[in-house]
Amino acid sequence: LGGRLEDALSKIRGKARLSEADVELALREIRNALLEADVNLLVVRAITDRIREAAVGAMASRSLTPGQQVVKAVNDELINVLGGETFRITYESKPPTVILMAGLQGSGKTTTSAKLARYFKAQGRSPMLVGADLQRPAAVEQLKTLASQIQVPMFSEWTSPIEVAKAGVAEARRIGRDVVIIDTAGRLTVDAELMDEIAAISREVRPKYTFLVIDAMMGQDSVNTAKAFNDVLELDAIVLSKLDGDARGGAALSVKEVVGKPIAFASDGEKLDNFGPFHPDRMASRILGMGDVLTLIEQAERTMDEEVAERGAKKLMEGKFDLEDFLQQLRQVKKMGSLKGMLSMLPGVPKELRDVEIDDAELGKIEAMISSMTKKERSDPSIIDASRRARIAAGSGTTSANVSALIKQFKEMQKMMRSMGIGPASATKRRPKP
Ligand code: GDP
Ligand code: MG
Repeated sequence: LGGRLEDALSKIRGKARLSEADVELALREIRNALLEADVNLLVVRAITDRIREAAVGAMASRSLTPGQQVVKAVNDELINVLGGETFRITYESKPPTVILMAGLQGSGKTTTSAKLARYFKAQGRSPMLVGADLQRPAAVEQLKTLASQIQVPMFSEWTSPIEVAKAGVAEARRIGRDVVIIDTAGRLTVDAELMDEIAAISREVRPKYTFLVIDAMMGQDSVNTAKAFNDVLELDAIVLSKLDGDARGGAALSVKEVVGKPIAFASDGEKLDNFGPFHPDRMASRILGMGDVLTLIEQAERTMDEEVAERGAKKLMEGKFDLEDFLQQLRQVKKMGSLKGMLSMLPGVPKELRDVEIDDAELGKIEAMISSMTKKERSDPSIIDASRRARIAAGSGTTSANVSALIKQFKEMQKMMRSMGIGPASATKRRPKP
């Protein structure tokens, strides 16, 4: 979605004067991009109508760059459609704050419950997980395993989902846990039994929040599911999972408009730290292809060894970033999750690069090659001739061609960084803020 919208807007971005035909052309492109991204048809219509209105205003204004105003209108409208403000959790004055998790089987409920617990723990809270999915023993086991990974207490027993939920809340109160997250059973499709069960749990424990987990990869289907759940449960917000698999963003763009409930959190990977509050403004700029720099920085700060990061950043700014630094950053990236996830958030990274699949084996190979280089070679790869190449290949269990490819890639990366305005060579070439 980002690429197409970006293309559509780049045509008018710099225009000093906009004709009606310009606007209609851009709107048609925007409409197609949204439809292709599996955004609900009614939502597409609402979005384009509101953008047209704003665009007509921009044409009439004597502003120097109506093109930029239209881009801003699109950005504002996307933020609006995505829910405007970031969802804020408030806590029960008399703990615990109970959160009920709903969703279809496989939507990511159990994983998300653990991610939420981890999030609350990082906020200084003392969460507890309750396993009320008694469909299969494996479901309780899964939650137990995740709970022990994040060192959060977990409660379950073989009674009934309602009893477990009730007893879980009582247990939390007894041992002084202030947030309770109740994981429930899902079905493959929305059915009456499922709805009755969760509605009964809800009546019994009276949760402060009911979150519906929906799988972003299911596009419009997931939005229809959300509607069905919203009809029987008083949903407070949506948690979008598997945003990493949905390059198109259609679900995120449809759900608020169709269901009327905001997206509170989003998950973009299987790891427990691939999770955080959903920021409509950041998602909007990501869709527009400007890169979600803020999220990237936050994520980096969370896991990165600050010193290494600082050193790397300083060298980058000075244009002295070498293979040694590359190796260190690479190790940080491995800690952070995927390089792909990181690249997709950086502004200016070409699409070809974003779509590149980078697997751990590949990262390991690169790590091995750089580790087999001398200090001197790492700081100045241009001295690596055929015989050095052969030595590095032998030392790292790779081939000379692998080593050449790495050095070539590294040079290209350096070039790209310069063109992105990193490094002294082009300090004046910063990308303008839209
Ligand atoms: P549940 O049936 O609703 O409880 O779903 P689970 O939590 O068991 O998740 C189903 C599958 O989706 C598991 O394999 C999870 O690892 C995976 N999963 C959950 N969230 C994400 C996510 O954000 N990204 C990706 N790629 N996978 C996810
Ligand atoms: Mg589950």
